[in-house]
Amino acid sequence: MMSTLQEVKSPPTSQMILSEMKLFGHEQVTYCQDQDTGLKAIIAIHNTVLGPSLGGTRFWDYAKEGDATIDALRLSRGMTYKSSLAGLNLGGGKAVILGDPAKLKSEALLRRFGKFIESLGGKYITAEDVGMSSRDMEIIHQETKFVSGLPEAMGGGGDPSPVTAYGVYVSMKAAVKEVYGNDALAGKKILIQGLGSVGIHLAELCFKENAKLLVYDIRQDRIRMAVEKYKAIPIEEHKMLDEEIDIYAPCALGAGINTGSISRLKCAIICGAANNQLEDEGIHGEMVAARGILYAPDFVVNAGGIINVYYELQGYVKERALRHAEQISPTISEVFRIAKEQKIPTYLAANRLAERRIEAIAKLKTRM
Ligand code: NAD
Repeated sequence: MMSTLQEVKSPPTSQMILSEMKLFGHEQVTYCQDQDTGLKAIIAIHNTVLGPSLGGTRFWDYAKEGDATIDALRLSRGMTYKSSLAGLNLGGGKAVILGDPAKLKSEALLRRFGKFIESLGGKYITAEDVGMSSRDMEIIHQETKFVSGLPEAMGGGGDPSPVTAYGVYVSMKAAVKEVYGNDALAGKKILIQGLGSVGIHLAELCFKENAKLLVYDIRQDRIRMAVEKYKAIPIEEHKMLDEEIDIYAPCALGAGINTGSISRLKCAIICGAANNQLEDEGIHGEMVAARGILYAPDFVVNAGGIINVYYELQGYVKERALRHAEQISPTISEVFRIAKEQKIPTYLAANRLAERRIEAIAKLKTRM
């Protein structure tokens, strides 16, 4: 469901924000301000039925301050669904810091922000997102223990990308099984768009299964690496969507699945790590399904990142995180089953599955 605030041109009033919170079930939104450091931040807590809310902090120079509220509300809700589907005991939250990180970020500002997180008493746990680094998490950690995404040297889980890539890989195999009857990737033509931390690990996993890799990245050095190490075939950007392939794996930016690309795509499956792949969930989720393409919803497939963070909170052991990420496979298969049974797009089936778990656990909490 689209935010009602997105249709409003003027800055949202507190009445609008409260009715938006009611509509989508948000529990709490905290506005933070500090004159000395220039900090302006919003911490949105969507749902804590499954556990403390967790979600990264985004440091972003929003065109309008009202956009920051909309982003915090939308992203925190997304985290509730992601953690529920990943079977984690976590709720959904998200924080945004307003401003240009290059100009505004300072130790004092981050520590002041840490104090605000601490004041919530553990209802919100932060992590890295756009505009933040693991070094920033270390600084915030000086003021609050409710931080994850710390460097390995500080007991953190380090780079989550291998776990994320593994989750995408097991999801891809489940999707292949759904479409072709068995989960073998051997001989399948897979186009990976974006060969960053996740994309390159995914390329390695697919290569080990003798998949045929086609790749595109805006960085030539990343393409060269995939060609040399994984015998990938480089594809020019403008030809990418015209290739006859089995699987399209978006691993760069969001919103790539839109009206323009859906009509051109010649694939059976879309399964990749990028966040928010559907430009408009309602419209493009339907369009993809109508074209007979099986879309593995990104927020199910790329949960390895949050799984890694969760295990950091437990005392990090990579093997446990990888074993948990393997469970994305039966979850995505269940999503496909619900979508087929209820004749609904897969993103909607995933949402329903997430809600079902939250409702069941909420009932359980009232029992002795
Ligand atoms: P990254 O920054 O390491 O890599 C992104 C890659 O995409 C870079 O190599 C970049 O050159 C390339 N790129 C940028 N624009 C492109 C374009 N238009 N076409 C092709 N390539 C382009 O990021 P990452 O950590 O690998 O994450 C990839 C995606 O997965 C992002 O959307 C991210 O939000 C999502 N994700 C990542 C994780 C994780 O654990 N890293 C977890 C969940 C979701």
